Amino acid sequence: MILRIIKKIDFIVLSIIVLALTLSISYLYLKKTKEQNKQYKEIYEKLLIMENLNVKLDAFVFSQKGVKNFDNILNNIKSFEQNLGSLNSKSVYEDLGKELKKFYIQVEYDFQAKRRLIEKFQSNSAVVLYQLSNIMELQQKISQNYSLGEVWDYSNKIVFLLLKHYMNFSLNSNEILDSIKILEDMNKSIKNKDISQFLKYANFLEKHIFLIKNLKKEYSDIGLDKSIDNYKNYFAIKFKKLEIIQNQIYNFIYTVSGILLFFIIISYIRFLDLKDELASFRYAVENSDDSIVVTDKDRKITYVNDAFCKVTGYSKEEAFGQNPNILKSGKMPDEFYKNMNEVLDRGEKWSGEFINKDKHGNIYYEQASITPIFKSGILKGYLAIKLNITDYVKQKREVEFLALHDSLTKLPNRRYMKQKLSELIAKNDFNKDLMFLDLDGFKYINDSLGHNIGDLVLKKVTARLKGIIKDKGMVFRTGGDEFAIIIKYDTFFSPSAKIAKNIIKKINEPIYIDTHKLRVGISIGICKYLKYKDNVNSFLKHADIAMYEAKLKGKNRFKYYTKSLDKTLNKKIKVQNLLQNALSKQEMYVVYQPKYELRSRKVISYEALLRWNSKELGFISPAYFIPIAESMKIIHDIGIFVFTDACLNFKKLQKANKDLKSISINISTAQLLNKNLLVEFKKIISYFGIEAKNIALEITETNVMKNIEKSSTILQDIKDFGFEIELDDFGTGYSSMSYIKRLPISRIKIDKIFVDDILEDRSDIKIIEAMVLMAKSFGYETIAEGIETREQEEILKGLGVDFGQGFYFSKPKRKEELI
Ligand code: C2E
Ligand code: MG
Ligand code: MG
Repeated sequence: MILRIIKKIDFIVLSIIVLALTLSISYLYLKKTKEQNKQYKEIYEKLLIMENLNVKLDAFVFSQKGVKNFDNILNNIKSFEQNLGSLNSKSVYEDLGKELKKFYIQVEYDFQAKRRLIEKFQSNSAVVLYQLSNIMELQQKISQNYSLGEVWDYSNKIVFLLLKHYMNFSLNSNEILDSIKILEDMNKSIKNKDISQFLKYANFLEKHIFLIKNLKKEYSDIGLDKSIDNYKNYFAIKFKKLEIIQNQIYNFIYTVSGILLFFIIISYIRFLDLKDELASFRYAVENSDDSIVVTDKDRKITYVNDAFCKVTGYSKEEAFGQNPNILKSGKMPDEFYKNMNEVLDRGEKWSGEFINKDKHGNIYYEQASITPIFKSGILKGYLAIKLNITDYVKQKREVEFLALHDSLTKLPNRRYMKQKLSELIAKNDFNKDLMFLDLDGFKYINDSLGHNIGDLVLKKVTARLKGIIKDKGMVFRTGGDEFAIIIKYDTFFSPSAKIAKNIIKKINEPIYIDTHKLRVGISIGICKYLKYKDNVNSFLKHADIAMYEAKLKGKNRFKYYTKSLDKTLNKKIKVQNLLQNALSKQEMYVVYQPKYELRSRKVISYEALLRWNSKELGFISPAYFIPIAESMKIIHDIGIFVFTDACLNFKKLQKANKDLKSISINISTAQLLNKNLLVEFKKIISYFGIEAKNIALEITETNVMKNIEKSSTILQDIKDFGFEIELDDFGTGYSSMSYIKRLPISRIKIDKIFVDDILEDRSDIKIIEAMVLMAKSFGYETIAEGIETREQEEILKGLGVDFGQGFYFSKPKRKEELI
């Protein structure tokens, strides 16, 4: 307990207490020594008085004066006695030692002896004086009777000698006694009474004067002066010593006080520095951007800075006395607070992140560090420094979100998908399919309408996918126009095929953006999870292969991954390799699809469509391999192969069909850019003896638009030579009217997508109507492709479309079949 109290007192307070004590002690001591010194000075003075009185006493005894002043001597004795009495103070001997007392006793003893002798001396002197006067009277009487003569002489001599004796003249007493004897002898004869009386007195006086002399002698032996002197000397020595001790004590007190004062001054200077430091510290704390909270050990707030008020919305007054848990948001588990409090209760530092709630209920994040405050080893409270990291957390979350999500569609991205698949593998969650989806025709939209429209298309596609999947799986955007879906099983059955069909249907529906009506297809590859228990990468690869297979087989369809597809692990490279020799291996052939006049239903042309039946890969769609061939030189050989086959068969087909006016051949841009193309074509037609007007070249609108300037000059050459030009897939390339007008074309081929929904979608009718009107005004014929029903044909006919083509009339067929 005492130790605790001592611990609580700080050094400066302790120093002041000690200094105050020292000063009080020194004051008391000073007061005491002052009184003591005063007392000792008085004693010393008294000793001097006593010395003086002693001299007076001696003078009294030894003075030659016959008449003594007894009153005076009594006063002196009294005075001596008083002074001596005041010397007999107990404290003096306690302070100066027992030895001094002995000296005192000696003084007193000597004084008492002197006093007794003086008293005796006094009484004897009185008697002597009285007898002296008597004897002198008698002597006078005798002188009268014996005026001259021996009696007178001797009586006179005796009186004179007695007086002398009394007056202390050194004198032989025998002289008196002799004179007395002589006078006695004389008186024997005279027998005078007076003389007898005189002699009696003389003898008495002689004896008493002698007695007085003895008294004086005895008196002179008393060394009162010496004992006073001894006392005085001893007293002086002791007093000196005492003074030295006192001085030493004073010096000690002054030194101690000086040291304490020095420490206090130093401490005070340090305190002032500390005060400055504290003031700066307080300023820093007050103005810190971090919230600073101090609580007592019961977690009641005792201090908050301005930043705290700013962040929490609580004023200082509102915060004081509160527990910081007023900021609890409820968004953190109780376990979190429990752990934190355990650490703090142990007196250890804690740091971590809070999700807190301000006064107005807004959630914010804080990075906090809480430090216990100890004073003299006792836990006093806690200091919390908290940094508002809400912006940082939000940014971090955004970064984290972006790391795992696509910023455009907000769908989880490829990385997320891989994580998810790894999790599934870790969980042994087998009832899942992985679907890879790739948009068909998206690239055209992006290239021709720009990225903004492309982005909107992707968003709409995303919304459609999410609308279909809902909680049946999870949709990811894994690339530009690529998506993936992890499909959950309905109990044990995979719903993937159903979902894929639904997706194709929904994605194929037109997308309206501004004034545009757009369409995209989607190719889907599906892979069942069960087979890829432990390998995310082959899982992904196989889903990809399945998706390519779907593309390969003509896009806008779905394919399941099967082991047989493994052979074509990297299908594109494989296709490239196989394409090189497809012609020489005679895997390619051409089929023909009739184009007919809608009014008369007479076949007026056949479109040559290339087919590739690869020994390794099976049937591969031209929609897939033509773009690959375009990126290789082989496209020219393929082009020539188709052109030759078409020319060769035109003659044969014309024989069977007298109405046949032309044969249509698809030409890709890559072919168009070849300078020798026309020369080669000329050679072929002249070889087969065909006129240029019998050849219609189908060129896709998008390809033309990509390089309009160059294309138009080439097309002009073709047209000038006499070939017909048909603008294929019209409506998908979003060409501007002014360009169309300038093109040297004979016909526009309305794309299948406008025909598909013609029954359901009124706007498609309107578009086709507009196309027909526009074409007519430019002097172009129109043909609609992809007619699959009678109704479609009827409507198109009604809209004034000149020609038609489609599965309803005839699928593309081998020449033999057609004939
Ligand atoms: P395209 O020139 O627009 O050809 C029309 C495509 O529509 C053909 O597909 C044809 O089989 C298909 N089709 C015709 N009527 C219908 C119908 O009623 N319903 C449906 N669903 N489809 C119909 P194919 O043969 O797969 O050709 C795809 C594309 O490949 C062609 O589109 C063309 O751009 C290109 N292509 C084909 N052969 C050649 C060729 O010899 N040379 C070049 N450069 N491209 C070719
Ligand atoms: Mg075509
Ligand atoms: Mg077409």
